[in-house]
Amino acid sequence: MDADCLFCKIVTGDIPAEVVYDGDGVLAFRDVNPQATVHVLVIPKRHVPDVGALGADPEAGTAVLAGIRAVADQLQLPSYRTVLNTGGDSGQTVFHVHAHVLSGRKFGWPPG
Ligand code: 5GP
Ligand code: ZN
Repeated sequence: MDADCLFCKIVTGDIPAEVVYDGDGVLAFRDVNPQATVHVLVIPKRHVPDVGALGADPEAGTAVLAGIRAVADQLQLPSYRTVLNTGGDSGQTVFHVHAHVLSGRKFGWPPG
């Protein structure tokens, strides 16, 4: 846990969130500023800052992938986009790795 990390505080319950899935080593909750009808963030419960660090932590990486699948199953998403921003230029603002799961509208490609 990182005492200054927003998402660690969501894991501990110090900051409230609308949880949609609570699994082994993984938590999924609604994004506070949704960019689609469904916008869920899937995070490892352990503090891992970004995708690079997630690659060095196979247990947390597997937990995040399992969490994405669980969210898609639970919300019955026929199609969805997953986004993991890494670094400031990509748009990462919270440095506790998170997969965005977006669904409920058509998405363009390439992304903006
Ligand atoms: P990033 O920009 O790092 O890829 O994504 C961070 C996401 O966290 C943003 O989509 C933002 O809306 C969301 N977010 C920021 N603060 C909070 C919060 O306190 N609660 C929730 N549920 N989402 C948050
Ligand atoms: Zn954290």
